[in-house]
Order: sequence, then C-alpha cells, then structure tokens
Amino acid sequence: MLNEQLRRVLQQMPKAELHIHIEGSLEPELIFALAERNGVKLAYGSVEELRAAYAFTDLQSFLDIYYAGASVLLKEQDFYDMTAAYLKRAEEDNVRHTEIFFDPQTHTHRGVAMDVIINGIYRACQDSPVSATLILCFLRHLSEEDAIVTLEAALPYRDKFIGVGLDSSEVGNPPEKFARVFARCRELGLHLVAHAGEEGPPAYIYTALDTLKVERIDHGVRCLEDPALTERLAREQMALTVCPLSNIKLCVFDKMEQHNILDLLNANIVATVNSDDPAYFGGYMNDNFIATFEALPLGLSHAQRLARNSFAAAFLPAAQKQQYLDEVDAFFAKV
Ligand SMILES: [Zn+2]
Repeated sequence: MLNEQLRRVLQQMPKAELHIHIEGSLEPELIFALAERNGVKLAYGSVEELRAAYAFTDLQSFLDIYYAGASVLLKEQDFYDMTAAYLKRAEEDNVRHTEIFFDPQTHTHRGVAMDVIINGIYRACQDSPVSATLILCFLRHLSEEDAIVTLEAALPYRDKFIGVGLDSSEVGNPPEKFARVFARCRELGLHLVAHAGEEGPPAYIYTALDTLKVERIDHGVRCLEDPALTERLAREQMALTVCPLSNIKLCVFDKMEQHNILDLLNANIVATVNSDDPAYFGGYMNDNFIATFEALPLGLSHAQRLARNSFAAAFLPAAQKQQYLDEVDAFFAKV
C-alpha cells in the first residue's frame, strides 16, 4: 500500500506530460455526445458497451477501437472540446506543461480538413492555464508518401506545432521507413520523436536514433534487452517517455509488478511517466504515478527524479525549463 504522504506528493508535485495522444483522451461519454451532435452512427449501443470493448490483447486490438472512437470528430469545435477536456484533467493532476500528440491522418483520411484539426486543438491549448504545445504524428502503418503529403498540408500551420512523431502499429513498420520525411522535418527545424521499442525490438530504437535522429524515444522499454543500447541511452541522456498503464493494458508487461521503470532509472536512463491514451488505458497522469508506485519499490527520491526528468526532457527554452526544475525542487524541499 502506498502511504498517504507519498500519494499526496505524487498528486501535488509539478510535472510535465510528454506522451499523450489527444485522440486517446476521448472519453466514451464525449464520444457519444459528439456522435449525437454530429449525427454519427456508432457501432456501440451505449457508453457501457463501448467501455466494455476496451479489453485489449495487443496494440492492434486497441488501435481498431481508437480509430472508431475518433470517427466522431468532424468540426473545429469537436477538436477544441476534446483538447479542453484533456487539459482540464491535466490541470487537476498538477501537470504544468504538456506536449500533445495529434494524428492528422486519422482525420484527413475521413475528409476532415487540416485547418479544422489544428485550429481546434491549438485554440484549446491557448485557452488553458496549462502550458501546451503540439507534436504532429505520422501513422506508421501508412506509407511515407502519405506522411509527406500530410506534412505539406500542415506546413501552412507550422507556427502551431513544435515537432513531429511516429505512432500507430509498430511491428513491421520500422522507423527507417520514414527516413526521408524525418530528414525534411529536421531541415525545417522541427523537434523529432518516435515510438520505438514498445512492441518492436531494440533494433527500432537504434534506427529511430541513427536514421531518424530523434531527440526522445516514446516508450523504449525494450531497450533493456540490449545492454549496449541501455548504456548508450544513459550516456546520451536520451529520454524515454514511458507509459506504465498503457504497457499493462496492451500486455507489454503482464502486471505492474513486472514493469521495468525502476530498472530504467537504476540504469541511469532519463525515464518519464506519461498516460499515452488515458481514456482507453485506465488513467491520466496521477493514476499512472500511483499505479506504478503502488506496485514497485519506488519512494520520494524516485518521485522527485521522475518529476525533474519530465521537465528536463521537455522541448522548452532553457530558462523556462530551469524555472520548472526549481519549482520541483522547491516542492520537494517542503515535503
Ligand atoms: Zn503512444
């Protein structure tokens, strides 16, 4: 059992979230409300029926439902409402800064225009007291040509996103499939991240680093299978955005007691805690922290380290980053 003091610290400590897919924050209630508002027919009869379908066996079984849920998003206000709902939850969890992933292809392929997507999400970020920036993700199960077309369509809104990422079905879609589009994004001065080493092998982490030249690895938990890679990630202080509840829901680990986040920290890796797709995986930031600390021998010093890591790994100007790190240290000095 988690003691009350540690639980309170986890809830109240300032933190950043660096791995959240905004479409994965769509709660069943909002899916049904938007379906009704837009006259979209869902394959599920009720909120309960939809929630009951959230028993995933792997990444793909989740993605099938995830794309069905996103089908209710049609108008700018829908994207605004989804993002505003997430940011409100983040604020309640004392998230000070968040870097939000969005998947334009999930929507442009349904005929939704790029400006509708970006403007809706961006406007909600502007209206929130939480600092929030956007990372455009390419769907890796689609072609690189499709990613290039998507990038071109998004460039008129270049000032509204800070980077690009790579998500969706990992196995069979290695990072190097997207070498050209990432090279182009690098030229454009965009930050680069990619999902790698969640279900895919350590080899995908190597190519994300060496071919795509990413600045953070999303997930990356399988790095520990390769000692040389583990050592390199620690030496280069390459951050991993780890998502504990997601890893359990998608069976990357059977139980939280088996999760390797403590091993990552012990290997001197800059691991962070994040929610991934909170509406689908059973919780937002604080739920992830509490579930992890309940199952593993983690204490106050780990909490401080994880909070510091979250800001250290953020794409923020140095002065702002230091301000957040000082805020974390001031918080822990009083614990
Ligand atoms: Zn993810």
